[in-house]
Amino acid sequence: MLDSLKSRPVTRLPDDVHLDGRALFLVDDADAVRRQLGGEDLPWPVELPLRDNISTDEITPAYICYYYDATLGDFPYLGLRAGGEFPITRGSVRRGGFVCSVAGKRRGKGSSREQSPYAEMCAGIKLVIAESIERIYRENCQNLGIFTSTDFGLIERVRRAESIPLSVFTEGEGEITRGIIEFGGLFQYNVARLQRQVSVPAVETRPRPMTLAEKIIARHWVTDLAENRVGIPAVRPGDEGFIRTDIRFSHEYVTPMAAIFWRDYVGEHERVVDPGSVFFFRDHLTFLDLAMTDARKADGLLDVALELKKKQEDFAAQQGIRLYGELPRVGQGLHGIPTGSEAICHSKILESHALPGHVIIGSDSHTPHAGAIGAFAFGVGTTAVFNSWLTKDVRLKVPPSVLIRVNEQRPAGVTAKDFMLQILRHPYVRDGHAIGKIVEYAGTGVEALDIDERATMTNMAAEVGAFTGLIRPDEKAVDFLVRERGARADEVRALFEGLFSDPGAEYETVIDIDAAALQPMVALPGDPGNGLFIAELGKRVKVDIAYAGSCTAGKKSDMDMYAAVFQDALDRGRRIAAGVQCIVQCGSQEVKRYCEAQGYLEVFRDVGAQFIEPSCGACINAGPGVSYDQETVTISAINRNFPGRSGPGQLYLASPYTTAASAVAGYITAWHPGAAPKDG
Ligand code: SF4
Repeated sequence: MLDSLKSRPVTRLPDDVHLDGRALFLVDDADAVRRQLGGEDLPWPVELPLRDNISTDEITPAYICYYYDATLGDFPYLGLRAGGEFPITRGSVRRGGFVCSVAGKRRGKGSSREQSPYAEMCAGIKLVIAESIERIYRENCQNLGIFTSTDFGLIERVRRAESIPLSVFTEGEGEITRGIIEFGGLFQYNVARLQRQVSVPAVETRPRPMTLAEKIIARHWVTDLAENRVGIPAVRPGDEGFIRTDIRFSHEYVTPMAAIFWRDYVGEHERVVDPGSVFFFRDHLTFLDLAMTDARKADGLLDVALELKKKQEDFAAQQGIRLYGELPRVGQGLHGIPTGSEAICHSKILESHALPGHVIIGSDSHTPHAGAIGAFAFGVGTTAVFNSWLTKDVRLKVPPSVLIRVNEQRPAGVTAKDFMLQILRHPYVRDGHAIGKIVEYAGTGVEALDIDERATMTNMAAEVGAFTGLIRPDEKAVDFLVRERGARADEVRALFEGLFSDPGAEYETVIDIDAAALQPMVALPGDPGNGLFIAELGKRVKVDIAYAGSCTAGKKSDMDMYAAVFQDALDRGRRIAAGVQCIVQCGSQEVKRYCEAQGYLEVFRDVGAQFIEPSCGACINAGPGVSYDQETVTISAINRNFPGRSGPGQLYLASPYTTAASAVAGYITAWHPGAAPKDG
């Protein structure tokens, strides 16, 4: 434990809470919102409809998330639509003296970004009331020390500056959540754990047949943080506690805000615990300069976004943490032309750091990528990242498991991406039943895949909505670790001991997919669950952009697929179709070196594709390959195609083979080796 925290005073909040201030009603009427900002208090019950479904995008739009510190308090609700207008302006909530913010149903839906409740907190909001509150947003509020309630009766009590029993906010909560609320946030609760002021309730699950994931969780279960004790015989779904991490990583969207928390709560000169197992990445916004509109640049948003890079670099240097950063820019300083990154976070973690049986947390929903070699890897929010720097552990309620078996031999040209598009259109997944669950992939079709292809499946556990995805490690994992890291085969095999699901392990559902019946697929624009066999498309879809990159599709095996299609095209005298912009972007410098060694860079050049250095780029609407109007059609090997993900155009998802073949044809088509597609 950090010495400074051993004696840090940390106490439970008083039994009575005093919240003295105004209530802001987020109503669907722009004029009424403006009047409140101007000083008028609306009566309760309010006569106007409260806004339902306020998303975190409305609380803090994506470009606002380039801010990472208390400046965020200038911006809460900047994207809030009220009566078709956006009545909230910079600084208006903070100036209004509001302590309580009131809305209708499903407050805080959408992205899990913690910038939203943090912006509210920095603007003075201490209590969020709504008819219903989304789970992750609510947890983020509790972690930050913001009270949440569905009791509208509290509004008048706040206005009268009455004291409110703390138990009003803890009633019905589990013991850990109750502790977090009583101590005023996750950090304070963790300090109390370190000081042994509180103990997490012991798990008393008796030995039982367990899944692979449950075994990893049980091995990492923290039984005493202060004494550094880890491991229990068994867990079952629903058990709650903390698990020890082996690797913690974050990227530039999250590290700076977590670093501010570190400075403010822990102390600038304190050291992150075990910095050797922490990694930072500059990957998401490397090429933002090339994609941001001039209007946004004129508003100073590029400068703000570049601060994220600088802040992460400074914190990494100060803490001695390995940063996989940007390649040197061409030209002077921050405003030179970006040339790329060392690696995309998930790509590097799998390539160089993850091991079978590890627990890995990352600041990104696609953290399960490392599940390809049997690691238990999942995404977490900013407060969890920050707290893990202190405790090396993370809170977990054991999720139920789902087994997805892909059996039989896949036809030529069918890839792991096609498996995933088929899984995503399965009714169980499409209807949201897999949300928050652990997905274990198995079956002969999965066993036949190499580790890169398995990573496509575990990566896209995020699109399934799963807590994570993973695959039992086997000889393919041995080959991978020996080849990529120079590991010793016997040492790798020793890591596998016990890493399999027991006969009789409990799965909520088992889904069987017949690989032999699959064909190359696309997902229609709007959702990765909109999958179809290409043969079912029913029309010729002309493409303008073909994007062959991202963490999902920038691995070595993906490059093999692009190069195979392009070499085949060259052999038949074909190149990228006229009018199609084709971009190949790899996931790491290691993959680039592989492409050089294989002669792929020449193939990409000769066929007319543009090869660019690693970064998230177009995958997150921040680099070459994005669309700029609704008519543009993109075929892309990335993992998700929600509206606006890669610009305003129509984005079809497909495998690396299909993306490359469509670039050559000029329209969406599967790859038929040796058969040059007809002109589009
Ligand atoms: S490439 Fe896309 S999906 Fe992968 S980490 Fe970057 S933004 Fe996320």
